[in-house]
Amino acid sequence: MSKKILLTGDRPTGKLHIGHYIGSLKTRVKLQNTGDYEPFIMVADTQALTDNARDPEKIRRSLVQVALDYLAVGLDPSKSTIFVQSQVPALFELTSYYMDLVTVARLERNPTVKSEIAQKHFDQSIPAGFLAYPVSQAADITAFKATVVPVGDDQEPMLEQTREIVRTFNRVYHTDILKEPEGYFPQKGQGRLPGLDGNAKMSKSLGNAIYLSDDAKTVQKKVMSMYTDPDHVHVEDPGKIEGNTVFTYLDVFCQDKDKVQALKDQYQKGGLGDVKIKRFLNQVLEEELAPIRERREKFAQDTDAVYDMLLAGSKRANEVANQTLAEVRHAIGVDYFAGRK
Ligand code: ATP
Ligand code: MG
Repeated sequence: MSKKILLTGDRPTGKLHIGHYIGSLKTRVKLQNTGDYEPFIMVADTQALTDNARDPEKIRRSLVQVALDYLAVGLDPSKSTIFVQSQVPALFELTSYYMDLVTVARLERNPTVKSEIAQKHFDQSIPAGFLAYPVSQAADITAFKATVVPVGDDQEPMLEQTREIVRTFNRVYHTDILKEPEGYFPQKGQGRLPGLDGNAKMSKSLGNAIYLSDDAKTVQKKVMSMYTDPDHVHVEDPGKIEGNTVFTYLDVFCQDKDKVQALKDQYQKGGLGDVKIKRFLNQVLEEELAPIRERREKFAQDTDAVYDMLLAGSKRANEVANQTLAEVRHAIGVDYFAGRK
């Protein structure tokens, strides 16, 4: 049986956090280790530049951090091609061809992009590249003919956009070379981990995250500062579970579901303090994070090797993407010099 091709990635706008872990990283590692997939994992620096063009140093600095996070969670360069988006020129050319198949009105309707525009206060100064980043995502996915894309819930509109581009391209150029991808989403309720502050999304741009690289003390401090139920003032007061971030995290990270249910019951009745549930959550998170942190520290001792790994992955990514690009040029008819020396 031929392997299914998987592609996904992360923007190097900071270190990765437990939202990324639960929303996408954990699934990638699981799928990678089944041996049924050929994974391509991309550090999306070009996409990160679409809203950080004036701060390239942040992207440069974060590249190796994201790569370290990958290795720490168990992505394995002998099983997955880990590469850097900007180092694969074919992706830019594919983006260019796809842009002509998408209207500005369609890009403006994308709900994720819409909310990001609001969050970033772009108002009337939206960088054109930012508005069009879903098109470059279509290039990333189709360049590798990926059909499986493990991502968080915010990425569904991007997948829909990619499928539309694939269908349009294949119809307009009378071909079937591009493949429609499917999202591979986390279990219900885990596709969008809220921030420590109760904000709808933990995000590296919002400063409300627990990072995979945080030391034990920092994790503990962050957990102790978490948003719970603002009306739960005294231990004996009945507390609310809905929108209480500590319980949301327990639901996601604690395997002992009976214990979580018992804590919920007690909290709602009254008599269970925030400090107690936070201590328990800290312990649960530590179990998951301690081995990741340890592996990360080991890899961080040799960042040269990390760059070498990214270079090797990028070379391999170029081979595959260039092959698709040749097919795309042929389908459009811009392969004028094919076969000429
Ligand atoms: P930025 O603020 O720079 O956009 P981000 O934190 O949103 O950063 P991305 O690099 O855009 O991170 O997303 C990488 C992957 O992680 C995507 O698949 C996305 O769906 C997933 N993801 C991001 N944040 C969360 C979250 N809070 N919960 C679950 N999945 C998430
Ligand atoms: Mg994002």
